[in-house]
Amino acid sequence: MSRRTAFFSDELCFWHSAGMHALVLPVGGWVQPPAAAGFAESPETKRRLKSLLDVSGLSRNLLLRTASPASEEDLLRVHPASYLERFKALSDAGGGDLGPQAPIGPGTYEIAKLSAGLAIAAVDAVLSGEADNAYSLSRPPGHHCLADQAMGFCFLSNIAIAIEAARARHGLERIAVVDWDVHHGNGTQSIFVSRDDVLTVSLHQENCYPPGYSGAEERGTGKGEGFNLNVPLPAGSGHDAYLQAMHSIVVPALERFRPQLIIVACGYDANGVDPLARMLLHSDSYRALTAAVREVAERHCGGRLVLVHEGGYSEAYVPFCGLAAIEELSGVRTAVEDPMLELIELQQPGERHAQFLSEYVETLGRRFT
Ligand code: ZN
Repeated sequence: MSRRTAFFSDELCFWHSAGMHALVLPVGGWVQPPAAAGFAESPETKRRLKSLLDVSGLSRNLLLRTASPASEEDLLRVHPASYLERFKALSDAGGGDLGPQAPIGPGTYEIAKLSAGLAIAAVDAVLSGEADNAYSLSRPPGHHCLADQAMGFCFLSNIAIAIEAARARHGLERIAVVDWDVHHGNGTQSIFVSRDDVLTVSLHQENCYPPGYSGAEERGTGKGEGFNLNVPLPAGSGHDAYLQAMHSIVVPALERFRPQLIIVACGYDANGVDPLARMLLHSDSYRALTAAVREVAERHCGGRLVLVHEGGYSEAYVPFCGLAAIEELSGVRTAVEDPMLELIELQQPGERHAQFLSEYVETLGRRFT
């Protein structure tokens, strides 16, 4: 069955530039300047996803939209004025380091506002009934950004800004965030950690980013206790471990919470060829993860589901993972076949490692029931 899926993007989001890097290393000293763009958080991972949607024909089945930048009022619901002023001043001055692993260039402030605006509009499209579900190709990403601190390529908390805008405009009481970016959704977690109206769930590679972070013990604080959930998975986890964690831990947590809207922090950096992590997912993994949250959304909140793009650093492979997620959202399957699928399937954990992972997820799940 096909669904009305709205897709929000804007070319300007691809124009945020952090200057010359090799992967994540600023050029200089012993780091040779790369021949081409080089920076891990490259616009090409996202632009090539949009291109694949177009050439595959999937775009013709989507409600293609852009949006206005987030307003100052929208930003101030999440970020203090002092942080926004600091961000704008550095952006106006031509850029520099706004935080750890958070280099910006000229105009990044305005582009980040647009990135957050796309997420706000995607949520709006679903809550207004214009679309059944939606995807926001937000760039720069947002899930590492704290209220008053940029980090990890993230300068504004796109999802938190969209949640607060939705609460202000539509009066929602329970919103769930599922973060399957391979890195911990530390920014979103920190913004909602003491709240019981936003459930934050992060599936991530343990000890990866923020460096050394696992998070299994953190469950929220004060009124928010029990409304934050971390599922740290060991490096080398593949399709089966992720799907087991999704169905045995994340889906039951969502069902207990009964959200009125589900937002996914949709990073693709748990894929098997990502340069910034060591997991083994492929396009069918993202298809299955999307199906799992879509089915919960259909059972509990009228299908209201929004995916907001986060990380994913393989220019060649992110488009195929993103296409699979958006095919699943829309219910339309294109003729595209994932050219990496078989190779990554062959590299899934062997029997003993798979057994270890299965028991690991089972043990982790017992903490949450
Ligand atoms: Zn990431």
